[in-house]
Amino acid sequence: MTKEQIIEIKELLSTPQNIVIIPHRNPDGDAIGSSLALYHYLKKEHSVSVVAPNDYPNFLKWMPSSDDVKLFDKQNKQSKRVLENASIVFLLDFNALHRIGEDMQKTVEKLKTTFVMIDHHQEPDTSITNYIYSDTSICSTCQMVYHFLEMLNDVNAVEKNIATCLYTGIMTDTGSFRFPSTTSVTHKIISDLIDKGANNAQIHNDVYDVNSYGRLQLLGQALKNLKVNSENRTAYITLSQKELDENNFQKGDTEGIVNYALSLKDIVFAAIFIEDVEQKIIKISFRSKGSFSVNQFARDHYNGGGHDNAAGGRSEVPIEETTEKFINLLQNYTTELKLSDEKK
Ligand code: 5GP
Ligand code: MN
Repeated sequence: MTKEQIIEIKELLSTPQNIVIIPHRNPDGDAIGSSLALYHYLKKEHSVSVVAPNDYPNFLKWMPSSDDVKLFDKQNKQSKRVLENASIVFLLDFNALHRIGEDMQKTVEKLKTTFVMIDHHQEPDTSITNYIYSDTSICSTCQMVYHFLEMLNDVNAVEKNIATCLYTGIMTDTGSFRFPSTTSVTHKIISDLIDKGANNAQIHNDVYDVNSYGRLQLLGQALKNLKVNSENRTAYITLSQKELDENNFQKGDTEGIVNYALSLKDIVFAAIFIEDVEQKIIKISFRSKGSFSVNQFARDHYNGGGHDNAAGGRSEVPIEETTEKFINLLQNYTTELKLSDEKK
């Protein structure tokens, strides 16, 4: 974002506005964290709403002002009303409008308003945005919101609520500060957020130590289903709708399970295939270590995308056929996967 653009945004924000903040569909900790952080920052001077396309997991619902988040699919009329009145719309943690789902996209793309996108995914679609702050090297949109406040020269406005929301998103998107995207700058910001009131131990507890019995049983099932394709340094997990139902599946229960596959020694590529009978799709998460780009892989074969080492996509054929095709596909990547974790 250029200095001139920052000056223009400052100018815009110098008078009260009707602002709507939108995270992506199936929002995660970073999407909700960045949205609520910006909400707390802006609501002192403006009328602000967060409108999420759909619901998010219970382990994020303790976040300050989580109750104020409107769900486009459930509170449709109210959501449309605030969107239609918006003078500024922030798009957080996603790079293209289709990521908010077809229904909400139809409403949002018609709006005559100012769009500001803040995001760290690759290949942002700039066709709708008036202002874009995109940086794929930054670990989380939450860290970008912190930098955005720095650019606005207003980082002193960060108080306990903002600090708590930003801490949560940085923590979840970095796998608790362990992914390579975690830098010394990330840690400096985290240090500042703790100084400003983020209760780090409590946040870890509230997000990670709230497993239900069903979730742990589901994890057990997932680990039993784990398969290894050692020629291609790949491990994958499947979960059928039946297995989800048997273990009282709740939204968010499958989050992070794919990382168990990636934690196997010598494995550099992991996937989880989750059957969704209602949507008639297999939702897939991909993770990798090193140079093998799961973003590219998901774009090329699974109508998806994301980051180099974490991406998602979907398949529209039954789960057995999906995994069969996946294994066949792997054969085209043997060399790349073999070299993935070698130093460039
Ligand atoms: P997850 O596997 O945790 O759902 O997603 C990992 C990353 O990939 C996230 O950054 C998410 O935004 C992105 N992602 C997940 N599913 C899709 C998808 O279907 N399309 C695109 N473009 N990105 C996705
Ligand atoms: Mn993110």
